[in-house]
Amino acid sequence: MQQLSPLPLKEKYYKAVEKEINRLFYEIMYRPIIRALEVPEKEIENSSDKAPLYIKRKVLNAADLIAWAEKHGFKSCLPAKDLHVTICRSRAGVCSKSIEKKSGCIFIDSKAGRKMAHLGDDGAAVLFFQSSIIESRWRQLIEKHSASWDYDSFHPHITISYNPGDIDLAALPAYDGPLHLGPEIHEKPLDGWRLKIKELVNAADPLESAIRKGSIYFESGLFKGSFNARTSKQLREIGARFNPKSKTWSYSGVLPPGVSMASADADARYSAVKDRLIASIDSVDLDEINSISSIPDVYDRTIEEMEEAYQKTIKSISLAPKLTQAQKGMIAAEWGQNLDKYVKEWTQENILELRQKIQENAFAGRRSSAIIKEIQKNYGVSKRKAKFLARQETSLLMSKFRETRYKSIGSNRYRWSGSMDERERHDHKMLEGQIFSWDEPPVTNTKTGARNHPGEDFGCRCVAIPVIE
Ligand SMILES: [Zn+2]
Repeated sequence: MQQLSPLPLKEKYYKAVEKEINRLFYEIMYRPIIRALEVPEKEIENSSDKAPLYIKRKVLNAADLIAWAEKHGFKSCLPAKDLHVTICRSRAGVCSKSIEKKSGCIFIDSKAGRKMAHLGDDGAAVLFFQSSIIESRWRQLIEKHSASWDYDSFHPHITISYNPGDIDLAALPAYDGPLHLGPEIHEKPLDGWRLKIKELVNAADPLESAIRKGSIYFESGLFKGSFNARTSKQLREIGARFNPKSKTWSYSGVLPPGVSMASADADARYSAVKDRLIASIDSVDLDEINSISSIPDVYDRTIEEMEEAYQKTIKSISLAPKLTQAQKGMIAAEWGQNLDKYVKEWTQENILELRQKIQENAFAGRRSSAIIKEIQKNYGVSKRKAKFLARQETSLLMSKFRETRYKSIGSNRYRWSGSMDERERHDHKMLEGQIFSWDEPPVTNTKTGARNHPGEDFGCRCVAIPVIE
């Protein structure tokens, strides 16, 4: 009896498939949703060294801009700490280690190119300005570091407000004071799921501000949400009564006009987000997977490498016929299409569930931020599903590959070999060293009676050592 060296399970095969499944989930389902919510996109973390990157510089003299905006009658402004210039928002992964963090500040005195304008659909009021340092930095990130940018061109700007009121920005002379920009801040655009509407409102009224922000909301005679000393004081003043048990405030009278208006605005905003979200979910096209999936290609490479490793292990004993490119392609296509089908089915199921939740307002407080949280949660579930599918299917493919290839050189049995460490399943440890037939896998789970070859159970790192008799 002769033993061959085993074909090891390669983590990178799983990883490659998992990455592709994640990309498919993202392209088919999440990208349209995130677009609809108008929140900055979170990109799948592609690999360890390449990741999406966001670079900004804070406006150090934000107080000057805010004072200017208030003087010109802006209804609200972003908080001073949030005023910034975006220099890079790369959805494409870049090698952030190779990108130097510019630590110097920039002082801009020139009034060239200054202009106030609306940007985007949500009516953001922004100040455009010119800065050759920032513009050439942007170009360098695109050209030298392959950063991506969503628009055709780049014009440095600072968003001052998402709710300027009815000001005719075109007629307004732009802020012409100095701009003092801090050092570059590099971050992963991950926590970018923040909704833009988290804007502080310049209302002197704490309750109205809280309602506009969505931290407090009024529903069926109750104020709910999170209260602080100032909002509680105000609620008491308008005659609301606190219910310590439910941590809500009952209110039965007519709402003060400001509060009522803020509440209507917040509700309208929530409905708008909800409608956009439903519309985007309904427009998701699952068949898109047929044109964008590259799972068969990933499998093709995987099989190619497995075949190479296989040829190496049997070199000493036999000259086995090599798998032809056509054979490899056929196996890859078959398994790849299987996986495409699972991804599609699961997306379908998942998207229906999400749609239902949104429709039923099944979110705490019916606030937009709760929707975002739910989608984040859903995204986390997708990622776990991607991992599961990738492991499951790739393990099965690898196992099938081994079985057929070894049978073709006359090896009908194998010896079970596990890692014998604390992570290995007890049931698998029991199989250590025993010989099994490719045609009859042993019971690998004594509770369920499931039978598997090494590597077929989820996360199993055991291998089959082929024997030739
Ligand atoms: Zn195992």
